Amino acid sequence: MKNVAVIGSGTMGNGIAHTFAQSGYQVALIDISADALDRAIATIGKNLDRQVAKGTITEADKATTLKNITTHTELAKGVIGAELVVEAATENPEIKFKLFRDLDNHCAPTTILASNTSSISITKIAAQTKRSDKVIGMHFMNPVPVMKLVEVIRGYNTSDAVTTLIMDLSKKLGKIPTEVNDYPGFVANRILMPMINEAIYSLFEGVGGVNEIDTVMKLGMAHPMGPLQLADFIGLDVCLSILRVLHDGLGNPKYAPCPLLVNMVTAGDLGVKSGMGFYKYTAGSKDLVLAPRFA
Ligand code: NAD
Repeated sequence: MKNVAVIGSGTMGNGIAHTFAQSGYQVALIDISADALDRAIATIGKNLDRQVAKGTITEADKATTLKNITTHTELAKGVIGAELVVEAATENPEIKFKLFRDLDNHCAPTTILASNTSSISITKIAAQTKRSDKVIGMHFMNPVPVMKLVEVIRGYNTSDAVTTLIMDLSKKLGKIPTEVNDYPGFVANRILMPMINEAIYSLFEGVGGVNEIDTVMKLGMAHPMGPLQLADFIGLDVCLSILRVLHDGLGNPKYAPCPLLVNMVTAGDLGVKSGMGFYKYTAGSKDLVLAPRFA
């Protein structure tokens, strides 16, 4: 396999394109927004500069990686010749379902279609196509060039051959793949999101403050980041939508999102991306400062 198309050039798409291109694949990076594509190439360049500064790659590696990426705003043109498509567009079922219907029409019948979705059923995505045996989840972690895990999700009809191929391919990218089945939240978010929700409930019920909850989990459980800081980093809106997928999909009240999380998202406090969550974020500052209401 040499030719890969990556759809969506946001946070995850640019990291996925970077990772494939650095491993020698020809990458067509596709987005509906030309601005997003420009930003993605600039971000990939900056991240490659960081690797050069650390001495993990050379200037020549950087140039080759950038040369391996082409950008496209037209899906049909971008996927020509792609043997694998990795979809990393916005986490919205309708957007993904339409994309997979279009991909099924535009791609060769042998092309494998992977989704980087955090929470949408791979089986439902696969049902949009006539090749459900060739549809699979490839759940990279953020930041993609740094994080080792790829959660490989088998849809109900994903074939053994396609699963083996994607597991092997993930290893070629220098990642460690883990095979899981397609149930709400897969494994990563099935376990992570209830922990984050419980941390928010602990704050809501006054068991501890933001600092105390994050400190207990960092020092007591050796987590590199406390659950409330991690929730800010992921995006509180993203956490809420994944909890809703768990709650709806598994029908168990234990997954009900904490009312404090719902209020924060409704009020626009989304964490790092909005500048305010459990902590307050100021551009250019690396200090961890409590949000005024939790100080
Ligand atoms: P993002 O908002 O940063 O980027 C999404 C990009 O998709 C945007 O540039 C947008 O223009 C583009 N897009 C939307 N519709 C499109 C279409 N029809 N065709 C082509 N491009 C389109 O989102 P993100 O954080 O990179 O998330 C992308 C996917 O990765 C989601 O499914 C998300 O659940 C998943 N994911 C995110 C994280 C994370 O930490 N951000 C981690 C793992 C998985």
